[in-house]
Amino acid sequence: MLRQVRGQAGVLPHYNSIKIFSPLIMNIQDAISNYLKYTGHKEIHINTALIDMDGVLYDSMKNHTRAWHKLMTKNGIKCTRDEFYSYEGMTGIDTIKQLFRQRAGKVVTSDEAAALYQVKSRYFKELGEPQIMPGVAQMLEVLRTHDIKRILVTGSGQQSVLNKIDVDFPGIFAPERITAADVSHGKPNPEPYLKGMQKAGAKPFQAIVIENAPLGVQAGHAAGCFTIGVTTGPIPTKDLAKAGADLVFASMPEFAEALPQILPLIK
Ligand code: CA
Repeated sequence: MLRQVRGQAGVLPHYNSIKIFSPLIMNIQDAISNYLKYTGHKEIHINTALIDMDGVLYDSMKNHTRAWHKLMTKNGIKCTRDEFYSYEGMTGIDTIKQLFRQRAGKVVTSDEAAALYQVKSRYFKELGEPQIMPGVAQMLEVLRTHDIKRILVTGSGQQSVLNKIDVDFPGIFAPERITAADVSHGKPNPEPYLKGMQKAGAKPFQAIVIENAPLGVQAGHAAGCFTIGVTTGPIPTKDLAKAGADLVFASMPEFAEALPQILPLIK
């Protein structure tokens, strides 16, 4: 593909070749070179996509932050709603343990945290079903038509959403998936993505990670995968790059549009 692009130099560009010469392709090529350099891999041959759920498949973070804020304030923990965007990707249990320890000096047992997480899950469910993220159906369809295996990797244990995956995205996700129940260490630990690769039978140079939050990007990066950050909420794009994303997109529709150009370069 790289040779084809260069071979067209000098040809008067029509609309499609303007896209070929776009900064996007150059960014992708730079990102691949950089990835190969820091990982030491000789090649990248993507056959698997490890895909986060909240903020990627569903526009659900608004409701999650609202539910978290309600749970914490009812339990006397001072917090702001927006701060929960920065914990996105952690398991609910870890979020509860951390906040109670930091804000109230209180050690919460795993059983107590699980009970509190049930309450938070109920608050979230009461806020109604989250909308499917605009552009995500197109993105998933591109992965499917390019024969890239799709594995769900989420820190969530929210059954009301997990149960909808196969209804909202029929035939898209492999039955093997990683949720809060499958990991001892949530994001930013690489464990969720390492386990996702295990389920897919993929090595790090064969898997891309698709994430919207800094802790998730950190987890994908630490797992050694080519990690794509997509901004879908208030988290600034630069925070995803800072967390270690190999490529960053400003929105899901923008990423979905770019994906057919990315895949031939990394397959
Ligand atoms: Ca997310």
